[in-house]
Amino acid sequence: MKNLAILGSTGSIGTSALEIVAAHPDRFRVSALTGNSNLNLLADQVRRFSPIRVAVPDEERAAQLKQRLATSHGTEILFGAEGLTACASGAETDLVISAIVGSAGLIPTLAAIEAGKDVALANKETLVAAGPLIMETVRRRNVQLFPVDSEHSAIFQSLQGHRRKDVRRLILTASGGPFRDLPLDQLRKVTPAAALIHPNWHMGRKITIDSATMMNKGLEVIEARWLFDVPADKIDVHIHPQSIVHSMVEYRDGAVIAQLGIPDMKTPIAYALSYPERISLDLPPLDLCALGKLTFLEVDSRRFPCLGLAYEALQHGGTAPAVLNAANEVAVERFLLGEIAFPDIPLVIRRTLERHEPVPIRDLETVLAADRWGRETAAMISATALVEGL
Ligand code: NAD
Ligand code: MG
Repeated sequence: MKNLAILGSTGSIGTSALEIVAAHPDRFRVSALTGNSNLNLLADQVRRFSPIRVAVPDEERAAQLKQRLATSHGTEILFGAEGLTACASGAETDLVISAIVGSAGLIPTLAAIEAGKDVALANKETLVAAGPLIMETVRRRNVQLFPVDSEHSAIFQSLQGHRRKDVRRLILTASGGPFRDLPLDQLRKVTPAAALIHPNWHMGRKITIDSATMMNKGLEVIEARWLFDVPADKIDVHIHPQSIVHSMVEYRDGAVIAQLGIPDMKTPIAYALSYPERISLDLPPLDLCALGKLTFLEVDSRRFPCLGLAYEALQHGGTAPAVLNAANEVAVERFLLGEIAFPDIPLVIRRTLERHEPVPIRDLETVLAADRWGRETAAMISATALVEGL
C-alpha cells in the first residue's frame, strides 16, 4: 500500500490522480489533499478519500471547508504555508504528487523532498525556477523524482534499460496548440476563450495558454535539462500535431526510442505512481491504423518566440529561468484578464528578462527573490502595455 499526498488535488492532474487511486484501492491510499478555491470539490474529495489532513491557503477557507464537512470526520483541516508544508511532509506519506500550478508549488515540493519523500512531479515551474536547488536536494536526501509531464515521462520510459552515456539527444514533441496554422497577423486578435481550447489535451487554464504560446515547451526544455542532466544543445523540439508520440530519446548508434499513447495524462501519472510496475488503466487503445499517419514539423520561431526565450534563459543560467517563469505567469494572467494581447505575452517576458541581471542560485531565498522581482517587473511592463501598447 502506497500512501499519497496530492498537492493541488482539485486541478486537472489532481483529479486524474484521484481517479487512478479510486480504481486501485488495493495499491493506493490518500494521506493528504490540498486545494485552493474549489472548496466544494475539495470537500467531496475529503469525504470520499478520508485523508489524514487537508490544507487550503488561508484561515477563512479552512473555516468554510470545515462548514462543508459538518459531520464529524477525522481529517485535520490546515491552512497557509504551514498547512501546505505539513501535507507535503507528513510522516505517513510515501509519495507526494506535486500538482499545484505555478511557482506556488515550489516551497511545498522542496519541503516534500527535504522530508525524504519521493515526488511525482507535475509542477514543472518548480524545476524551471529552482532546477539546481531541487536536484541538489534530491541527491542529498536520496529521494526519487518521477516525471508526470507526458514528454518527460516518455523520455523516462525511453531511457529504461539504456545507459545515460549513450544518449545523443532528447526530442520533445509539441502539439503546436490551437494557433499552429493561424495567419501570423491574426494572432493579435486571439481571445482568451479561443486560446483556452486545446486541440488534444484537457488541462488547467495556465498550461493551456502556455501550450498556445509554446512557453509550455520552453518550460519543458528547462525541466528536461534538470531532470535528465542533459545540456540544452542536446534537447530539440518537434511539432507533432497528433500528440501520439509523447517524446523520444536518440542514442549514439542512431536508434531513436519513443513512447506512444493516446493523449491522456492518466498514463504518465500512473507510471509515476507505480514505477517500475505498470498498472491497468481503463483507457481506449491507441489505434494507429485509424489515425493513418503521424506528422512532424519544425518549430517556426516567429510564431512561437517563447520557446527561444526559454532557451536563452537557460543559457543565461542562474536566476534567469525563475524570472522567465515569473514573467510568464504574470503575462498569462494579464492575457486571461483581457489586459494584454496574445503576442504581448512573449514581449512582456522578453522585456523583463532584458532588465534582469542573473545571479547563481545559492538557496531558496535567491529563487524567491528572483520570482518576486520577475513578477513586479512583468506587472509594470504589462501595465505599460495596457496604456501605450508594447
Ligand atoms: P489546474 O489549474 O487544473 O490545477 C491547479 C491546482 O493547484 C488546483 O488544485 C488548485 O487548487 C491549486 N492551486 C492553484 N493555485 C494555488 C496556490 N496559490 N496555492 C495552493 N494551491 C493552488 O492545473 P493543472 O493543469 O492540473 O496543472 C498542474 C501542474 O501540472 C502545472 O504545473 C502544470 O504545468 C503541470 N502539468 C499539467 C498537465 C495537464 O495535463 N493538466 C500536464 C503536464 C504538466
Ligand atoms: Mg507536457
